[in-house]
Amino acid sequence: MKIGFIGLGNMGAPMSKNLAAAGHEVVGFDLVAPVPEGVTKAATAVEAATGRDVVVTMLPNGQILRKVAAEILPGMKSGTVFIDCSTVDVESARAVADEAAAKGVLAMDAPVSGGIGGAAAGTLTFMVGGSKEAFEIAAPLFEVMGQKTVHCGASGAGQSAKICNNMILGATMIATCEAFALADKLGLDRQKMFDVVSTSSGYSWSMNAYCPAPGVGPQSPADNGYKPGFASDLMLKDLRLSQQAAEAVDADTPMGKLAAELYTTFVEKEDGKGTDFSAMLPRFEKRGRS
Ligand code: NAD
Repeated sequence: MKIGFIGLGNMGAPMSKNLAAAGHEVVGFDLVAPVPEGVTKAATAVEAATGRDVVVTMLPNGQILRKVAAEILPGMKSGTVFIDCSTVDVESARAVADEAAAKGVLAMDAPVSGGIGGAAAGTLTFMVGGSKEAFEIAAPLFEVMGQKTVHCGASGAGQSAKICNNMILGATMIATCEAFALADKLGLDRQKMFDVVSTSSGYSWSMNAYCPAPGVGPQSPADNGYKPGFASDLMLKDLRLSQQAAEAVDADTPMGKLAAELYTTFVEKEDGKGTDFSAMLPRFEKRGRS
């Protein structure tokens, strides 16, 4: 396929590289990042998108997505496909899909889970919102860039799934970290804590696959000085998106709200910015109840 790829940052660069390596003709554009191996450089987003069968975007937020979509959609032909893989607010995802539909372009929101490692290895999980027709055209590309794809429903459903997942992740990571800090103060050995919880009803991905305690459980950012991994700033972004969505539909999400407040304090007032989101453990270790 002829593919335009816009946003060649930490995630977009390896994703576009994998598409090119699979034999697709990929033309890429980024405001600052260089094009990866196998990808042809375009001078503008419009140039990257015009005349392609599929355009993929991997951008920082909904505002930038709306701006880029407004630039490129006029040059895209009816029947072509626009896949946004960024994590953005549900409203922006739906607004861009409506704008695309008005021009006959098949749009999908397809945010990912799996981080930079998953992007490089082609093992991302895609959660997709959009029509069946669009999904069937794009499915082979998801297979190149990922190992699991779920068609979640109509436009916005992919972003809805992503923010719900990450709201659970934020809350469980905090719960896991505060439990480790409590266990420390109770004099419980961390390895024993892991051995029990990872095989008991307190288990979760945060404990079992991404243990926040260094030297315990599988290799994780905790074993690398809490260098991300998945940065606290990005977790905060996703928690804010989940709260924005919850407000829009009047959903009561007290745990998600508290998780967003804790990551806000951690990133904006403490030393959490630029650290992995599991660095909540050393934060709790230093604190008492007040
Ligand atoms: P990044 O900041 O490394 O990359 C974004 C890129 O977009 C940058 O290179 C930037 O120059 C470019 N860009 C910004 N405005 C542009 C414009 N108008 N035209 C062209 N390019 C433009 O971010 P990332 O880590 O690659 O994340 C991208 C998206 O993926 C975000 O929405 C993020 O929330 C999501 N995400 C990231 C991860 C992760 O672990 N990094 C995991 C899952 C999802």
